[in-house]
Amino acid sequence: MSGSFDIKGWCPGALRPMLAADGYVVRLRPKDGQLSSRQGLALADLARRYGTGVLTLTSRANIQLRGIEAIDHPALLLALEVEGLLDESVRVESQRNILLSPFWQANDATQPLCVALGNAQGDTGAPLLPSKFGFVLDPGDAPYLRAASGDVRVERAHTQSPTQEPLFWVYPEGATTGWLGHQSLVVKAAMDLAHWFVRHNGFENPRGRMRVLIERALPLPDAFQTPLDLMPPAPQAPLGAVQVDLGQGGFLVGLRFGQMSADLCSYLCGFGPLRMTPWRQIYLPQAKVQPTHPALLTDANDPYSRIDICTGAPACTQALGETLSLAHEVAKILPKGRFAHLSGCAKGCARASACDVTIVAQKGGFLWGRNAQAGNLFGPALSQEYLLEDLQSAFERPDHA
Ligand code: SF4
Repeated sequence: MSGSFDIKGWCPGALRPMLAADGYVVRLRPKDGQLSSRQGLALADLARRYGTGVLTLTSRANIQLRGIEAIDHPALLLALEVEGLLDESVRVESQRNILLSPFWQANDATQPLCVALGNAQGDTGAPLLPSKFGFVLDPGDAPYLRAASGDVRVERAHTQSPTQEPLFWVYPEGATTGWLGHQSLVVKAAMDLAHWFVRHNGFENPRGRMRVLIERALPLPDAFQTPLDLMPPAPQAPLGAVQVDLGQGGFLVGLRFGQMSADLCSYLCGFGPLRMTPWRQIYLPQAKVQPTHPALLTDANDPYSRIDICTGAPACTQALGETLSLAHEVAKILPKGRFAHLSGCAKGCARASACDVTIVAQKGGFLWGRNAQAGNLFGPALSQEYLLEDLQSAFERPDHA
């Protein structure tokens, strides 16, 4: 099997950073899923001054700075507070795990629900949830985040109330029924589900996820018994100009391996606010022209837009191998339309779901498999050279096309 790894059970934040081999990792959750130009410029400056000079976008649409030294942490926090990028406590920071559709508009329900949900999570009676437990707010005209990891989902229904008001679904990940109702009660319904999760010992599984609890077939509360009749998921918006019937334009740009240099971040801030996505892409809603920085991915056919990698060695203490240089080699041979996931260990931080090609570092080499998750690979480890040869011949076989 692809090996063991520690489950830390918590995620880094700004107030509670996590120590890695290259210093502390500081993770930020922009409050409405976006950075203003000013905040983005400030973050770029902080990454240069205190970190490695690189900002990383995570699969939960958070931003990470690495390589922070303990002595610089207080000054970094002060600067983040000035920019409105700091939560009031570790508890609020770790609980405010809300993923927003990047394509929200000023007149839809996303922003008000995000604010109200954040407030509800800060209430004294709010349940204490595992730090990986996440709310997915996707209540626009079409759901974009169905494939993103989450525990409680909020989406707009395609039916309306008799008075023509929009209705919304609130449902637990993995369930076939949910709550259907008005916007004013959405946050209460979402928090009711969170309370239900805690009441039924959702913490029992190591990462504390809703899907595991739902698989135990416990009866949901009465209010969540309406059979789900969801809108079909919106197709993934392609890189480049965004024309998803939003009437607002803008551009979606990809980041190679989810990383951007501080200079690239500063460049993007020249196009207005930066909205984070869980796809290692940034949506620039106010961009009037296509950004042309050479480090950006703007073509969906670019193999780099189809490769996920985790930090790997040497920066991650759990890594059994390096991922970055191998990813450059895989990019040279990855067939068009195929996706690859390279992981420094079986934990699979960069991607929870299965992938066309999954490669996991192992003691003495790598394992790889098709349509596999990082934790589900077996067999003898291959050297990097043999791995690439094996991949190349597999990609050339007709059954892989
Ligand atoms: S998956 Fe990658 S980043 Fe996550 S613990 Fe393993 S080596 Fe580290």
